[in-house]
Amino acid sequence: MQKGQMVYEGKAKRVYECERDDAYIVEFKDDATAFNGQKKGSITKKGVYNNAISTVFFDWLKQEGIVTHYIDTLSEREMLVKRVRIIPVEVVTRNVAAGTLASRLGLIEGEKLKQTVVEFYLKNDELGDPLINHSHAVALELATREELDHLERTALMINDILYERLHTKGVLLVDFKLEFGVTAEGEIVLADEISPDTCRFWDEQTNEKLDKDRFRRDLGRVEEAYQEILHRIQNK
Ligand code: UDP
Repeated sequence: MQKGQMVYEGKAKRVYECERDDAYIVEFKDDATAFNGQKKGSITKKGVYNNAISTVFFDWLKQEGIVTHYIDTLSEREMLVKRVRIIPVEVVTRNVAAGTLASRLGLIEGEKLKQTVVEFYLKNDELGDPLINHSHAVALELATREELDHLERTALMINDILYERLHTKGVLLVDFKLEFGVTAEGEIVLADEISPDTCRFWDEQTNEKLDKDRFRRDLGRVEEAYQEILHRIQNK
């Protein structure tokens, strides 16, 4: 399928129109940013890995009845997805304290949380994606309370599926960020990507980081980490 006009370019992906008016083509780039765009770089073949990794995760979720924007994988870097209006709320789910949760609440990175935590962030680069609660989201008309409850329940279901399946591959799902969209028919579906850019993955045996923290924290072997995740989840 041919790419048409580019409708959006983000930090890690470009989105194009195509011959289907209910779909877009997403192209995964190698560009990497961190700390709200303050750190910029490139990770060799990241776009290829993230396209393939997201494909596997969307497939796992489909098998368990989760509705996503994923339609097909077109090439090494291209995915065909349903057209949606992205809900400007980033839904972060956490099993283990890390990143901003650890620093904000004074927890030790690696501490298992007694209960899975779901958080909402306003998707707004200028403001640095601030943490918001349900009433902020409703007051700003980002979503209704019912929709937020649906996002939270769906995020927890996705967490259960991915956590268990990754466990069988020796990978600990520490935390991850999801974005949801609304289709032309008004259905809320999982959108965006699920990849080492948007998740924290640790090796269960060694706690080695296998995600974008290797780039954020200059830990080296960044490309190898993305490749390792792809290999582990592709092995049956
Ligand atoms: N995350 C993301 N995009 C963002 C912010 C966070 O994909 O704009 C992911 C991040 O990779 C991690 C989880 O959400 O898996 C929780 O991130 P955290 O709030 O700890 O922030 P970070 O340390 O990533 O800035």
